[in-house]
Amino acid sequence: MRSEFDFINYIKERHKLKAIGDDCSVIPTDGLTDQLFTVDLLIENVDFRLDWTTPSFLGHKALAVSLSDVAAMGGTPKFALLSLGLPASLWKTSFLDEFYEGWHSLAASHGVDLVGGDISKAGELVIDSFVIGEAPRGKALLRSGAKPGDLIFVSGALGGASLGLSLLESGVRPGDEIADFHREAILRQLKPTPQVAIGKSLLENQLATSAIDLSDGISSDLFHICQASNVGAIVDASNLPIAKEGTLEMALNGGEDFELLFTVPPERRLDAQHLGCTHIGEIADTSDGILVKLDGELRPLLPPGFEHFRSEMAGGRGDT
Ligand code: ADP
Ligand code: MG
Repeated sequence: MRSEFDFINYIKERHKLKAIGDDCSVIPTDGLTDQLFTVDLLIENVDFRLDWTTPSFLGHKALAVSLSDVAAMGGTPKFALLSLGLPASLWKTSFLDEFYEGWHSLAASHGVDLVGGDISKAGELVIDSFVIGEAPRGKALLRSGAKPGDLIFVSGALGGASLGLSLLESGVRPGDEIADFHREAILRQLKPTPQVAIGKSLLENQLATSAIDLSDGISSDLFHICQASNVGAIVDASNLPIAKEGTLEMALNGGEDFELLFTVPPERRLDAQHLGCTHIGEIADTSDGILVKLDGELRPLLPPGFEHFRSEMAGGRGDT
């Protein structure tokens, strides 16, 4: 069965859709500015479970996943549209008030204005989050600019969201009395932080040759960079910044950390480190494929960390 990535590549070729394939589409507006468009769909019991989160966290996350795509382009988010399919049972509660509180609190911290949306009745909650950002003309960070010899960096720590998901699956809830790092992991999953400031720094300092946000895990998202840039890569597992109590498997294949994965020319190594980011590997020739160095041995790093139609899990996460 074809994957969703095969499907996207197919419609892109079949209908000659040049703007599709990056974290945002880049649409020139005037001589100085490009507009960035991104949309994310979150479906109840596929991408989230109402009994695992709070309406406010969910409102935050609905916007955060789209801001993360703007961050991956080095852009500045500006406007948002938000559509909801709402079960009648939620209409009668304070759900929407709390959801919009969470959404607006994150929007305010990024100067994002809600400029429209739609609302309709649905069997299960459906959230469609659309964000428009901007970047200086021709400067947005694409997945396609990585060159052999470039260094691979990630922001933050990895695997926390995946650890959070496994804690939620085992019955732990955000309001429970739990260790701080467990609460942190759960919040990573339920209330992620989009790395907008780091993305903007990468663009402003012309530091990154390519970038993507880690929505599906390094194994998938590095594959997207390599595919778009027509290069290979080697990741050194011993250099991965792993969240406390997270595992290597969570760091490589776990999704939804919403950190940035980007490539930097070798002479800019210190600039990337000054941003607090970690050097995890190198871009290589295509013929090398994508490899991970583990205990001194090179092994293939197989994508994808996550594909929507391969997952049988309902209730953790889908594709954001
Ligand atoms: P992300 O994880 O960064 O949100 P996706 O993997 O969802 O990105 O999508 C990859 C690319 O494919 C993006 O450019 C997105 O706009 C495009 N895309 C995804 N689904 C569709 C679709 N149903 N129709 C057209 N384009 C799509
Ligand atoms: Mg993305």
